[in-house]
Amino acid sequence: MTTTQNRPTVRRSETSLITAADLPPHGHFVNGTFQGGQEAEAFDIVDPATEALIARVPNGAAADVENAVQAALAAKAAWGRLLPKARSEVLHAIADRIAENAEVLVRLEAANTGKPISAARDDVDGTVDTFRFMAGALRATTSMAAGNYAEDHLSLILREPLGVVGVVTPWNYPLLMAAWKLAPILAAGNTVVIKPSEQTPLSTLKLAELIADLIPAGVLNVVTGLGPVVGAGLTAHPDVDMIALTGSVNSGKAVARGAAESLKRVHLELGGKAPVVVFEDADLAETAAALRVASFYNTGQECGAACRILVQESVAEEFIGHLTREVEAIVVGDPGAGEDVEVGPVVSKAHFDRVAGFLERAAADGVRAAAGGAVLEGSGYFVAPTVLVDVPEGAECAREEIFGPVVTVETFATEEEAVRRANDTRLGLAASVWTESGRRGHDVAARLDAGTVWVNAHLVLANEVPWGGFKGSGYGRDLSIYALDDYSRTKHVMHNHAR
Ligand code: NAD
Repeated sequence: MTTTQNRPTVRRSETSLITAADLPPHGHFVNGTFQGGQEAEAFDIVDPATEALIARVPNGAAADVENAVQAALAAKAAWGRLLPKARSEVLHAIADRIAENAEVLVRLEAANTGKPISAARDDVDGTVDTFRFMAGALRATTSMAAGNYAEDHLSLILREPLGVVGVVTPWNYPLLMAAWKLAPILAAGNTVVIKPSEQTPLSTLKLAELIADLIPAGVLNVVTGLGPVVGAGLTAHPDVDMIALTGSVNSGKAVARGAAESLKRVHLELGGKAPVVVFEDADLAETAAALRVASFYNTGQECGAACRILVQESVAEEFIGHLTREVEAIVVGDPGAGEDVEVGPVVSKAHFDRVAGFLERAAADGVRAAAGGAVLEGSGYFVAPTVLVDVPEGAECAREEIFGPVVTVETFATEEEAVRRANDTRLGLAASVWTESGRRGHDVAARLDAGTVWVNAHLVLANEVPWGGFKGSGYGRDLSIYALDDYSRTKHVMHNHAR
């Protein structure tokens, strides 16, 4: 494997972010307590910055899924019957408890994922806000007016919970993705069994520990383990009414197939390869500075990352100059090595090898690295922040989701070509347009095939607005009242009141 010549130095931290006292109890969280933690089979949780073992977590089996689903089933009637106000108060209490314990959650998340401490703090802040938003939103739901739509028949629309929802989450935002699912699912009156990523289960288990006394037993259950066992078990279970996954396209396909037999509802937030269309009239320096954040935030392990740049050829050289200077200034380091660390290690050895493979194949195909271009030496899974240029149309690095600190730059001649090439992908999660022209900003945004399109911005999110993909990026929406709708069912009740 090659290491980069002009490599950034990895800033190291002298102290560990966590101690044994910060770890959650060992076991699955089922029916209000941690249990079943004595399995001989457990898997290692590794700090990606140091490669040190930080915990061992139970490798869940079919029996653990069964226990958790039965607990969720037993709890669903009482939780679903609660008045909106009562459920809202529980969600507010959860938000307060997370905020009070933000500091330990930040350290745990950073230690388990390797993400910079500032990013981990954003995640915990976002988690609190998601619970607060859903606590409010659940008391303000609306539907069509009750009324006579057929002669002498009064129609009412009832909003009901679905029942038991299974959730499977990824490793890039373990706590935040859990919150994006749990808050609307609980707000809508469902009970839940969640399986965090086998690589990053600590913050989800810690959340369960922190809020155990706030929520009735069985309403929230956590089972740790592997996707094809625990995730697939939830997907196939006849008593699970819906399965929601945030993860890769392949896992999404496996879940959709597994859910077909029981015809349960499926909610999929999958991969992305966001095109970023930079027109010649954009403010190039500002665009490059904004993309430094939007492309490399969370070490580029972000489904909406601004990872595939298409720049108009007339300004390509100038833009690449700005972007390269920005990327070479990025501080790489351990999560605990300072507030200004922007890029940490990628999450695991397997992912490190995967990202390195993309870089090696790109180099072999004649793609040039204007910045970075290789992995970094020493302990931990560090990859140099990379800008790949001279990228031909259809190149692997511009087509596949690399999911690391790597951006590609392609060029285009006309607006028409930019739209065609930006949409020439199986994925459709996010995109952005950079231009000073109001007409062009609106027009191109409307023609891009992605669930979120930003104009002169990228990766700005808010709890009030929906997040989710088109095409191969899945279906269903996280955040906003649209998520509440996804986790509810509407029932029409019609009364004959003819005399
Ligand atoms: P992954 O698909 O490998 O794993 C995600 C989860 O799915 C894990 O918990 C895993 O155990 C589980 N899983 C794996 N196989 C399964 C199966 N057969 N049945 C049920 N569950 C199974 O994804 P990852 O590597 O953890 O995360 C990265 C991926 O997630 C990227 O593709 C990224 O784009 C995507 N992602 C999407 C969003 C979004 O909002 N659209 C957000 C974050 C991450």
